[in-house]
Amino acid sequence: MIRVKNVRKVYPNGFVALDGIDLHISRNEFVYLVGQSGAGKSTLLNMLYKAETPTSGDIYIDNISLSGLAPKQVPYLRRSIGVIFQDYKLLPRRTVYENVAFALRVMHFSRFRIRRQVAQVLELVGLQQKMHNYPSELSGGEQQRICIARAIVNNPPVLLADEPTGSLDPDTSWEIMQLLSKINARQTTVIVATHNKAIVDDIRKRVVAVENGRIIRDEQLGLYNP
Ligand code: ADP
Repeated sequence: MIRVKNVRKVYPNGFVALDGIDLHISRNEFVYLVGQSGAGKSTLLNMLYKAETPTSGDIYIDNISLSGLAPKQVPYLRRSIGVIFQDYKLLPRRTVYENVAFALRVMHFSRFRIRRQVAQVLELVGLQQKMHNYPSELSGGEQQRICIARAIVNNPPVLLADEPTGSLDPDTSWEIMQLLSKINARQTTVIVATHNKAIVDDIRKRVVAVENGRIIRDEQLGLYNP
C-alpha cells in the first residue's frame, strides 16, 4: 500500500536528512519508526502526506506516485491520511466537537453526516462526555484523544502519528497506544514515530529503526533495541 523507493532528502541548507530509504508497508500494518532525535523519522512521515518532497526517489501510495501528483490532487491525498503530532495543534477557541467537526466541514459533508460521524468517533476515543468542553479544560491525554478523533473522523485508510506520547505520562501513553492499536484493528494502517521504549517493547509490532537518515533494522514484532 505504501512504497518508499530510494528516497533521499537534502534540506536547502545541504543537510542530508534521509539517504536511500526503501520501505514497504502493507495495508492494515502497524509500524513503529524508532531512532534517536534527528534520525529522520519526522522527515519520513512528512513525505508520506507530501508536507515535504523527496530530493530524489519517490513514494507510492496505492500505486500512485506522489511526485507525479498535481497540486490540486494533494488535498485528496491528505484526506486519505490522518496525522497526529506530539503538540496537539487544536483550535483553542473551539469546543471538542467543533475541533473534530471542522475537518468534515472543510470537506463539505452534510450536517447530518457531520453530527453522526463526530458522535461515533468521540465515542470510539471515549470523549463523548467532553464534547462541549474547550481543549484547555482537558488533560494532555484527552487532548491527544481529540487529535486522534479529528485525524480519523473521515475514516482515512492511513494514520500517521509523530511522537504521539511525547508529552504524556506512562499510563496515559499506554492508553493512547492502546487506542492506536484499536484503530489499527479497524482496518487502518498505522505508522508511529516514537521514542517510547517501554511501549515499543510491550505492545509488540513491526519496528523500523532509522539512524542518520537510513533504515538500519526492520523487524516484525521487534524491540526498541535489538
Ligand atoms: P526525527 O524526527 O528523527 O527527530 P527529523 O526528521 O525531524 O528527525 O530531522 C532529521 C534531521 O534533519 C535533523 O538533523 C534535523 O535537524 C534536520 N532537519 C529537519 N528539518 C530541517 C530543515 N527544514 N532544514 C534543515 N535541516 C532540517
